[in-house]
Amino acid sequence: AAKGAGRDRFALFDPAMYAGIMREAEERAEVERALARDEFLVHYQPIVDLPTSRLIGVEALVRWEHPVRGLLGPNTFIPLAESTGLIVPLGRWVLRQACEQLARWRDEFPAAAGIRVNINLSARQFQHEGLVEEVAGILAETGVDPRQIVLEITESLLMQDTDSTIETLGRLKALGVRLAIDDFGTGYSSLSYLKRFPVDILKIDRSFVDGITTERGDATLAEAVVQLGRALQLQTVAEGIETAEQWSTLQSLGCEFGQGYLFARPGAAEAISSILGDARV
Ligand code: C2E
Ligand code: MG
Ligand code: MG
Ligand code: MG
Repeated sequence: AAKGAGRDRFALFDPAMYAGIMREAEERAEVERALARDEFLVHYQPIVDLPTSRLIGVEALVRWEHPVRGLLGPNTFIPLAESTGLIVPLGRWVLRQACEQLARWRDEFPAAAGIRVNINLSARQFQHEGLVEEVAGILAETGVDPRQIVLEITESLLMQDTDSTIETLGRLKALGVRLAIDDFGTGYSSLSYLKRFPVDILKIDRSFVDGITTERGDATLAEAVVQLGRALQLQTVAEGIETAEQWSTLQSLGCEFGQGYLFARPGAAEAISSILGDARV
């Protein structure tokens, strides 16, 4: 150890740190293997028109069918995929899956003609150079109508208000897709960026919906987002609706669309197919 330093400040071998590094390397390798072995799958959660609860679209949510640990949600592997860069190939795979699925629904069900498929993009994916070309390529190969695709980005991504962010958003919009801000209200609240960026949809974060019938502050914030959306001619989608009271409160605030366990949990594509099959067109 260095002279004068505390006895264990410069330990050459830190077993805990070593274990951490090994673990991360192993986890990274595991995610790579999972991609190669096709262990990921996409679940879809209905997005409904609040007044009628009719299906207007779905959100694609990735899952990992782990051979040992079973079905894993994105919170267990997206952060790792982000930090290792594996989110780029994984995100590309989700995008392709979701577009292929939309094309199948469209071919099979007249009711699918106008539905949208929302796809989450992480910051790392967004910053990846080839993103716009990849999206364009997948749209062309699957033949889906770009107007049926909504890309969800986060508020924090927009806060990195750089020329390249604006340029990428503009190029995505030029493909004909729509853009939504996910988890709106949880980031820093500089609202001026809403005017500068070509977004179409605000998704009200679940944390506000949670308290909407019990916390005055949450209801006020949700209402403010809906009014902001209206003023800027953006659609509003509330996420995480679990109770009929939350549903009716959001309707009375003028929120147009929503998703949540009250309507349906995320599920396999077949669950959406049966809704589309039942729908009167
Ligand atoms: P998100 O985009 O905000 O997605 C909504 C999350 O809320 C989903 O969690 C969904 O299952 C959950 N949810 C929906 N309704 C309710 C409800 O009524 N109650 C409760 N308690 N939860 C509800 P999930 O599937 O675990 O996804 C978590 C996050 O992982 C997503 O949040 C998104 O940020 C990220 N994610 C999911 N799929 C992808 C993907 O393909 N790419 C990227 N980059 N991120 C993804
Ligand atoms: Mg989302
Ligand atoms: Mg969200
Ligand atoms: Mg959320």
